[in-house]
Amino acid sequence: MTRHDPRIAVVGGGISGLSAALELALGTEGRADIALLESQERTGGVIRTSEFAGLPVDEGADAFLRRVPDALEVAAAVGMRDLTAPTGASAAVWVDRLRPLPEGLLLGVPTSVRSLVRSQLVSPRGSARALADLVLPSRGLEHDSIGTWVRARLGSEVHDRLIDALVGSIYAADTDRFSLASVPQLDGLARGGRSAILTALRTRRPPTGEPIFAAPPTGMGSLTDAIVSRIVELGVTMRIGRAVDRIQAVDGSVEIDGERFDAVVLATPARVSARLLETSAPTAASALASIEAAGVIMVTLAVPAGSLPPSCSDLSGYLVPKSRQRSVTAVSFASSKWAHLRPADGSQILRVSLGRDGLDMDDLDDDDTQTRVIDEVSLHLGCDVAPTATRITRWPGAFPQYRPHHGALVASIEGSLPQTIVAAGASLHGIGVPSCVASGRRAARTVLERLGLGHPPNGDPVRP
Ligand SMILES: Cc1cc2nc3c(=O)[nH]c(=O)nc-3n(C[C@H](O)[C@H](O)[C@H](O)COP(=O)(O)OP(=O)(O)OC[C@H]3O[C@@H](n4cnc5c(N)ncnc54)[C@H](O)[C@@H]3O)c2cc1C
Repeated sequence: MTRHDPRIAVVGGGISGLSAALELALGTEGRADIALLESQERTGGVIRTSEFAGLPVDEGADAFLRRVPDALEVAAAVGMRDLTAPTGASAAVWVDRLRPLPEGLLLGVPTSVRSLVRSQLVSPRGSARALADLVLPSRGLEHDSIGTWVRARLGSEVHDRLIDALVGSIYAADTDRFSLASVPQLDGLARGGRSAILTALRTRRPPTGEPIFAAPPTGMGSLTDAIVSRIVELGVTMRIGRAVDRIQAVDGSVEIDGERFDAVVLATPARVSARLLETSAPTAASALASIEAAGVIMVTLAVPAGSLPPSCSDLSGYLVPKSRQRSVTAVSFASSKWAHLRPADGSQILRVSLGRDGLDMDDLDDDDTQTRVIDEVSLHLGCDVAPTATRITRWPGAFPQYRPHHGALVASIEGSLPQTIVAAGASLHGIGVPSCVASGRRAARTVLERLGLGHPPNGDPVRP
């Protein structure tokens, strides 16, 4: 490296920032001085795996979608090819008892009225209302709210028990206040034709037998650890355990707490990015500050062998719809969902999620959390849940909430940032791991292009 090599910083060591650093390191091939700045003593952000009941059990994300290729590509680029898939056990919804999800759903939108009726998840009246979707006229989508669109097409019951339950659990959201355009599968259905059911039927791909999700059997934390090892090997400097305090754009470069860099990828949560940019990009900062985020608590339990009702052994877990929620929003039967999460003594691991946007759990202490989990899950399953081990993980503000017209807000943020600062991360273009990886890689490529560093001939540095 010569002393004229460009200096690039990545702020934030979650999966978005790590993916950006990897893309920068592979793309510059030693022609740049790259530093990753992370406030905590560990990298990975909200991805964390730790030992529970003798097994590597995730405290946050436990898998990622294969459909968006970025996470798979990065995993391959860092040598993680040994990925596993869920067992294929199906999910249920708790409405006074566990009821199986109907077959053939497209993110909660039914494609078969017969299987909707057969599941008994929705009342005959609710099913009849859903059928009205076939004849109702189309309406505008200017509201950009999932709840408004789904209620108008399929009625409130299908909204509550299917779409809000599914999408709400993925985003910790209240889908009445969540952007339709920001959930591509639903947006495609809303724009693809008048009837949601017919459009879902038309666009649903026949099952290929390919798994939908992938995960490292050693936990998602091993993916972020593998990226760290690779970027260190490629010469990225890791500066962890010190929070960045201020980012200032100066004369075609950028100063981070007084240290000069040619460009920065900012991969921190929106509320942090807003604070860091307060003085140098006040318009972007106030737009970033308006992005709200919801917190959840993830409680992991081990229960003795044979203590759950036999009907649970075929289920990967269940969702609790908003109309029935007290604190618990979803329960994953991790030992049924994943073959590698079965303790040798036959006990079962459960991952229980509490809280969402509008169902705040911040004030719940550990004793109350444990009591609520045991009471609510015992009620749902109709048995006494008596855990032999419990782990409580708090994720305050971990789920950015994409309010209606989020896309326009993000465009205004990106349009008002100085050329030397490029934003990435879950607050912007999707919260799923593959979307975060994609946003980090995209931000890195923008930086490379702006600095005139270009790409290797195949145009995709991360492809192994
Ligand atoms: C409980 C839970 C379950 C989930 N389940 C799934 C799932 O199954 N599948 C899926 O695809 N997605 C899932 N997600 C979503 C996904 O995990 C996240 O959206 C994604 O990991 C966010 O990555 P990120 O890098 O954008 O943000 P973060 O992980 O939040 O990383 C931001 C980083 O910035 C650092 N930072 C903050 N302030 C500063 C500062 N001042 N200076 C320097 N660094 C700073 C933070 O410490 C952090 O490391 C889940 C999320 C949670 C919370």
